[in-house]
Amino acid sequence: DGEGTLTAANVDDMAARSMPLCMKQLHRGLQRDHKLKHQGRLQYGLFLKGAGMTLEEHTLYFQREFTRIMTGEQFNKQYAYSIRHTHGKEGKRASYTPYNCTRIILGNPPQSGAEHHGCPFRHYDDASLSALLGQLKIGNTVDRDAIMAHKRDGNFQLACSRHFEAVHPGAIALEGVSLDGVGNHPNAWFSASVSYYNA
Ligand code: SF4
Repeated sequence: DGEGTLTAANVDDMAARSMPLCMKQLHRGLQRDHKLKHQGRLQYGLFLKGAGMTLEEHTLYFQREFTRIMTGEQFNKQYAYSIRHTHGKEGKRASYTPYNCTRIILGNPPQSGAEHHGCPFRHYDDASLSALLGQLKIGNTVDRDAIMAHKRDGNFQLACSRHFEAVHPGAIALEGVSLDGVGNHPNAWFSASVSYYNA
């Protein structure tokens, strides 16, 4: 399957094609600001690890972005350790588990435009979410209306599943594509998308 193949070289394409909205926004934030705040680095970093990105590729990817605004030495000093930590290579060598949707939805909301973590279906207001769906050309107006209706009803995870359906037409009928966990875990969303494109 496509797991294990997420690399610094293909992460931009994979983000556009196969990441749920929360991770797309972290990807975009990193691309725009060339850095991520602590909670964003954790949420995104653990997701990348869960999606099969190795420590080496994770370091290459973050180094490429961060060193647009800092030296390689600064990056190594401030960030390389915490990336190794995410992969369980430092500290207690604990293996950190990628966050599920409940954890992200109930977690601290992003506090400013500089924070890109959280769940857009939960943490963005209606106007911002609606604008984002349009900007990313997610589905058609029927899809977007359905997503917004779920969001307004407080069914954030249903909104996310509806997003998946809108951008993976026919997924339900495809053999080898498991939609289990889509709307419950960002990594399940990613895996389902990868298997959709491999089916
Ligand atoms: Fe991410 Fe889960 Fe929110 Fe979807 S519902 S955007 S996967 S946190």
